[in-house]
Amino acid sequence: MPPAPIQYAQAATKPIANAGLRYLQGYPSSTLDQIQSMLQAQKLGTWLSNKYAASHGMRTDRALYDYVQDLKGEFLKGADPLSKVAFDSKLHVVQHALGTHTTISRVQGSKLKAKREIRVASLFKEVPEPFLKMIVVHELAHLREREHDKAFYKLCAYMEPSYHQLEFEVRVYLTHVESTGQRLWSSGPDA
Ligand SMILES: [Zn+2]
Repeated sequence: MPPAPIQYAQAATKPIANAGLRYLQGYPSSTLDQIQSMLQAQKLGTWLSNKYAASHGMRTDRALYDYVQDLKGEFLKGADPLSKVAFDSKLHVVQHALGTHTTISRVQGSKLKAKREIRVASLFKEVPEPFLKMIVVHELAHLREREHDKAFYKLCAYMEPSYHQLEFEVRVYLTHVESTGQRLWSSGPDA
C-alpha cells in the first residue's frame, strides 16, 4: 500500500515548519501559518512597531515596584504583600509564562507568613507599556490563582480586558526577537 508512507511524511513536516514558533504553541494552526509567513517575509517587526510607537520608559526596579503596587492596589488590595519586585536579567522568558512569581513560606513567631516576589525578565524594560502590563497582570493574578486555569485567566482579563490579545502580541514579539536577534523599542546599549 504505497500511499501510507506519503501521508505520514506530510504529517511529519508540519511540526518542523513551525519549529520557530515555540512561543506560540497552542494557538490555532491558521494563526501559526499566518505568523510563519510573516516571519519568513520579515514582516513581524513592522507589524508590531506600527502598532506600538515607543517603550514604557520604566528603567529601574523602583519604578517597576511602584507600577506593580499601583495595579495591585487597584485590583488585588487584600492579596499578600509583595516583598520584592525586580527586573531580572538572568530570567529566561520561557521559564514560566514569561515572568516568575515565587512564594516562600517563613515562620514568623507563631504565624506562617508568605513572602511574595515578582520578577520580570529584563527584556521587558524596553517594550510598549501594554506588554509590561500583560506580564505584571499575569504575575499578580498568581497571588490569587496558582494554576493557569479558567479562574486565573478570568482574573487576568478583569485586570486587563485586552489580556489575551496582549499575551499573543508579546509571544509574537518574542518570536521576532528570537528569529532576528533584534529588539524593536530599544533605546540604548544597556538594553
Ligand atoms: Zn503563570
